[in-house]
Amino acid sequence: MQVPLLDLKSQYAQIKEEVWQSLQEVLTSQHFILGPVVEKFEQAMTRYIGSKYAIGVASGSDALLLSLMAFGIKEGDEVLTTPFTFFATAGAISRLGATPVFADIDPDTYNLSPAAIEKLIQQQYRIEQASPDTPPKADGASGQLVNKKTNRRIKAIIPVHLYGQCADMTELLALARKYQWQVIEDAAQAIGTAYQNKSAGTLGMTGCFSFFPSKNLGAWGDAGLITTDDQSVMELLKTLRVHGGQKKYYHQYVGCNSRLDTLQAAILTIKLKYLDGWQKARINNARYYDQLFRQSALTDQITGPVTKPDRNHTYHQYTIRVLTKRDELKAFLQQHQIGTEIYYPLPLHLQECFKPLGYRQGDCPEAEKAARECLSLPIYPELTKEMQEFVVKTIKDFFKNN
Ligand SMILES: *Cc1c(COP(=O)(O)O)cnc(C)c1O
Repeated sequence: MQVPLLDLKSQYAQIKEEVWQSLQEVLTSQHFILGPVVEKFEQAMTRYIGSKYAIGVASGSDALLLSLMAFGIKEGDEVLTTPFTFFATAGAISRLGATPVFADIDPDTYNLSPAAIEKLIQQQYRIEQASPDTPPKADGASGQLVNKKTNRRIKAIIPVHLYGQCADMTELLALARKYQWQVIEDAAQAIGTAYQNKSAGTLGMTGCFSFFPSKNLGAWGDAGLITTDDQSVMELLKTLRVHGGQKKYYHQYVGCNSRLDTLQAAILTIKLKYLDGWQKARINNARYYDQLFRQSALTDQITGPVTKPDRNHTYHQYTIRVLTKRDELKAFLQQHQIGTEIYYPLPLHLQECFKPLGYRQGDCPEAEKAARECLSLPIYPELTKEMQEFVVKTIKDFFKNN
């Protein structure tokens, strides 16, 4: 039996006719840049996410970049984020000349740890007012954090909702109020995920989504979207995605060319109708893995994903921790035609391109441990019970001889 990590072909077979029809309509209109098809998808997304506004952009990476641009993040600013995420989260910060600051993760959820952030603040920052003539502070604000070594200020935080579960947003939002940070949610892996009674993407100032083909809602190429409840932020983002000019050939800002492609919007509008069903199938698959692992007596070798009680999990990934011989297990599964992946093998604070930031091995021990232990199993909606049984049985076989 072959069990690929992801099988987009079976989903394609389900929706082919309907999507082709909608593509034909765009082709007939020959209207490829923005327009009513993109607006219709943006509207549908505001309803799905529960935000006031949605702005379609070229990718999830650009959603992060444009959000940071909208908040004026620039050279000399610091932005707090997690080292255990896809590169784009920190890449967007660096592209603007700002400095990513990495705090360690919570080992249960793999997301930014509020306690690790507080420890970092105590060790490396002092509190200072923005400037004597800034407007009165928000309720509970105590001032901005200034790095004791570099004198740079933390201006924003990008929590990532990794694998389909939200970060500890209550605590992170309280810190953000206290220290006057903009909150940009990286919800690329968490479309439709709930935190208390709200959706990922409505908790911060902006929510950034990716429709990279392998995401829970995937396009047929690159695509992304930003959600916000703030009208002026929405207007600024719509201007920034068309080179910073509302009126053609007149430019208020230096923006970029980053629009949600109209053909992709047509595809996504159809696929969005199926998303709830696909999410349910992912969750059911996760419950079945949970049950199979409980029965398999592998608790000394493996721990499953942990979901905190005040949020749900939409299983963009079903990620286990393999306490010993993770790489050998991955190779063994590959030999048995089972696809798995390591998200992510090297935390961002140890990436070559961030060497100048001066981080060392041991600076974020939980992220480093997660990078050594994590393994994501196939979890896509069309996965069958027989396939899941084969995956868990093969893992058991491996540990019988190791
Ligand atoms: C996929 C992803 C992105 C980037 O999205 P693209 O659409 O590929 O640019 C950003 N952050 C996280 C956590 C992601 O998983």
